[in-house]
Amino acid sequence: MIELAPKLDRLRDAGLYRQRRLLAGPQAVRPCIDGRQLLAFCSNDYLGLAAHPAVIEALREGAARDGVGSGASHLISGHHEAHEALEDALADFVGRERALLFSTGYMANLGVIQALCSRGDQILADRLNHASLLDGAQLSQARLRRYPHADTDRLQRMLISGSGSGDGNRGNRLIVTDGVFSMDGDLAPIPELAALANRTRATLMIDDAHGIGVLGAKGRGSLEHFGLDGLETQTAVPILIGTLGKAIGTFGAFVAGSSELIDYLIQRARSYIYTTALPPALATATLKALEIAQQEPERRQHLQHLISRFRTGAKSLGLALTDSPTPIQPLIAGDVDTALHWSQFLEDNGILVTAIRPPTVPQGSARLRITLSAAHQDTDVDRLLETLERLPRSTSTHRRSHSAAPRARGAGVGG
Ligand SMILES: *Cc1c(COP(=O)(O)O)cnc(C)c1O
Repeated sequence: MIELAPKLDRLRDAGLYRQRRLLAGPQAVRPCIDGRQLLAFCSNDYLGLAAHPAVIEALREGAARDGVGSGASHLISGHHEAHEALEDALADFVGRERALLFSTGYMANLGVIQALCSRGDQILADRLNHASLLDGAQLSQARLRRYPHADTDRLQRMLISGSGSGDGNRGNRLIVTDGVFSMDGDLAPIPELAALANRTRATLMIDDAHGIGVLGAKGRGSLEHFGLDGLETQTAVPILIGTLGKAIGTFGAFVAGSSELIDYLIQRARSYIYTTALPPALATATLKALEIAQQEPERRQHLQHLISRFRTGAKSLGLALTDSPTPIQPLIAGDVDTALHWSQFLEDNGILVTAIRPPTVPQGSARLRITLSAAHQDTDVDRLLETLERLPRSTSTHRRSHSAAPRARGAGVGG
């Protein structure tokens, strides 16, 4: 057997050992975690739909009617009318010809990139992209080139200097980016990327896992935020990924685009073909959640109100915020110890915000990833701010109190 104990020890020594927290009961802003009720600011249930009574009821009814397991992959005998109905609704929602359901966003990204790119092609990826996009690129065997975060000038130079082969046959080029960056909350410069892709005849793929449901008056995501939703923009952003386990509150993911794209993915996306279809009842529940997300814009409005309240409060406390208009509001700690220390301090005060450490975020940018939900109240945000005001400035911890931790980027706690 491969020796794992030393590997685990190294993770512990570096403060990078990860442990799961045990949740009981529904996902909520006050979940019961490890037997204790905490006020949580770290889930992606941005609209508060994960335990919505109507969604629960839709799941119950769907299961009573269609059973639980789908029994097979979509291409064998698992493709159910509940899946088809959800795909139609999703395509409609984001203004694309068709949509294709995947079991998870992780699998959607692997499947799409692997299906569309191969050796000889190039993938140009933002440095802060989600891990699944990176893994998809590696799986495809295309050449992966990462550009500095949101740096369209650099990307342009990379596209122009692009071939590397010198034979004039440079293969296809896919630009891939998060729409909303999952750990930073800022938006990709989508209009510029679309223009650049158009000029250089590259293809643009947006993973809008954190934009769908949240951004835009109708919740259509980052593209709506930039006024790029609607069928006429399908050529500008031909490949759109959305996930369903975040703002939509259920589980799964989709790819939306032209009929031809979807048709091709059904033929070639391995993580679509070689896996069991989602339970149909889950598709039925998701359809209900999607309906609520569209019909109750007040959820988005309340969320935006909470975001402003948090940002205004944090600024007056001198906390260093990132440039994020979304419910993801990270506080950069810098080193791992400080992030863990802050997280522990909050927890001691009844608030749950998990510390995010490398390799999820770059070295030296460990952080508290604070997320807000429409299910939070003003008083919840105020309580978070009051606790953050008392956040210890010291970076020393019981675990490595001897090590002088480097000064945090953005200094986190201010004054
Ligand atoms: C969460 C996330 C995914 C993965 O989606 P799952 O459905 O959770 O597998 C993909 N991309 C981004 C940007 C994400 O934040």
